Amino acid sequence: IHFKDFGISDDITRALEGLGFTAPTEVQTKVIPVALTRRDVSVKSQTGSGKTAAFGIPICEIVDWDENKPQALVLTPTRELAMQVSQDIMSFGRFKRIKATAIYGKQPFAYQRSELKQKSHVVVGTPGRVMDHIERHTLDLSKVEILVIDEADEMLSMGFIELVESIITHLPKKRLTMLFSATLPKDVEKLCHKYMDNPLDIEI
Ligand code: AMP
Repeated sequence: IHFKDFGISDDITRALEGLGFTAPTEVQTKVIPVALTRRDVSVKSQTGSGKTAAFGIPICEIVDWDENKPQALVLTPTRELAMQVSQDIMSFGRFKRIKATAIYGKQPFAYQRSELKQKSHVVVGTPGRVMDHIERHTLDLSKVEILVIDEADEMLSMGFIELVESIITHLPKKRLTMLFSATLPKDVEKLCHKYMDNPLDIEI
């Protein structure tokens, strides 16, 4: 099985080859074809399974380069993860010139505001800082078609779930939502039921 079998365009498979991604991992094989049909997915998988590419590749494929406003929002529990995920997305999308912007606490707000004024196809951020930008009207979410909640169980244990919920209320209703979690505690399952439309449950 090859990434090309999922109907992924050449500019993305070429980038994957350059990264040494010759064959998709299990989580990628299960998630990518479903996400490309825009069906919601709730995925139980560990870090190290290749989950970043499982959502990053469909994001790069779906995003329209010509649209200036963000089309995908990825929420992560930590700034380290936000930085890593935005770098990864830019490397999958390098030949499509996909721009991802990471927004997180402890980095000057003004810098992020000016970054967000430029073209950003994808915004990756921690819930607190994303909410700050929403409240200060420096993040326009009106064109978001894809939401990813990464490490949902970590978000829960760090007390971010309410923030995540209020961020979701600022997003367009018609969207693809993908949730990733190493474990599925009750409150994470509740989140799936509340904010996803008939999600496919995938367990790795
Ligand atoms: P993640 O679970 O997203 O943190 O990914 C774990 C590691 O696996 C990262 O270092 C990726 O670069 C690598 N990786 C992800 N998908 C593949 C693949 N299809 N082939 C080879 N390496 C991969």
